[in-house]
Amino acid sequence: MSIQYPIDLHIHSTISDGLRTPAELYAQARDEGLTAFALCDHDTVAGVPIMQEVIRQETERCPDSPPLRYLPSIELSTGDGGHAHLLGFGVDANDEKLLSALCEMQEERAQRSKRMICLLKKQGIRFCCHTEEELTRPGTGRAHIARALLDMGVVNTMQQAFDRYLARGKCAYIARRYMSIADGVSLLTNAGATVVLAHPCRLNPDPQGLRALVLELMDAGLAGLEAYHPSASRQQAPLLDSMARSLGLLVTGGSDYHGDANCCVRMGRMPSGWKNPEEDFLALMEAVEKHRAQGM
Ligand SMILES: [Zn+2]
Ligand SMILES: [Zn+2]
Repeated sequence: MSIQYPIDLHIHSTISDGLRTPAELYAQARDEGLTAFALCDHDTVAGVPIMQEVIRQETERCPDSPPLRYLPSIELSTGDGGHAHLLGFGVDANDEKLLSALCEMQEERAQRSKRMICLLKKQGIRFCCHTEEELTRPGTGRAHIARALLDMGVVNTMQQAFDRYLARGKCAYIARRYMSIADGVSLLTNAGATVVLAHPCRLNPDPQGLRALVLELMDAGLAGLEAYHPSASRQQAPLLDSMARSLGLLVTGGSDYHGDANCCVRMGRMPSGWKNPEEDFLALMEAVEKHRAQGM
């Protein structure tokens, strides 16, 4: 069972593969009654200054209502197949090392999209010039291609696009190389971020195996676990919560909302059982501020 929380620390915008702009998300977050949120676009920090500007304008427009609390963040793909996702809260969007690593990733991603489109064409799928150009821009990936296939009527769902063409081992799949999870934790930590392992159950549903991995990543600087995410069941979420607390780690929660209206993921909705999101959010903010102060 999932319930609505006032805090959502995992949201995607059009800056990566979400469907809503930062401004639309901010307005929606306000309408949904959120009090705090984090924009965590995949492998990019380009949305950070955009969201900051949105908030500046909103504050100017409505000086009497305090702006929603916002944490500049990123979701970095690492590990085998890029399946280990790290949330970097409070990331410095101007960190040069991070920016150059991200630039390399985006460029590689665009090259990969080009190769995947070639393979799809060999399957007889026709793309119009405009779509093809859009799909090979830096930063585009499999989700964009899947959505295009859905819009073109080639498949009936995004999942079908993956199952038929884009998943590992399927005819249009191209493997990518990713940095190790530990290297990702270090990269983000050095860029001022407080690093949390996203949707841990997706990475390893076995609690023993996950605990061993988490202990290893703590050496690299891992600071928390995203215990409350739609991928965790009602039973798994509290287990992740207590694993994090027993290891002295932060607990976070996020919906992974991508703006899809016809998808069960909703902004602010996560598994039930998160007892004190506000307290955990304040602990995260404190960790972010402390970490950023140490780096200065
Ligand atoms: Zn993710
Ligand atoms: Zn995500």
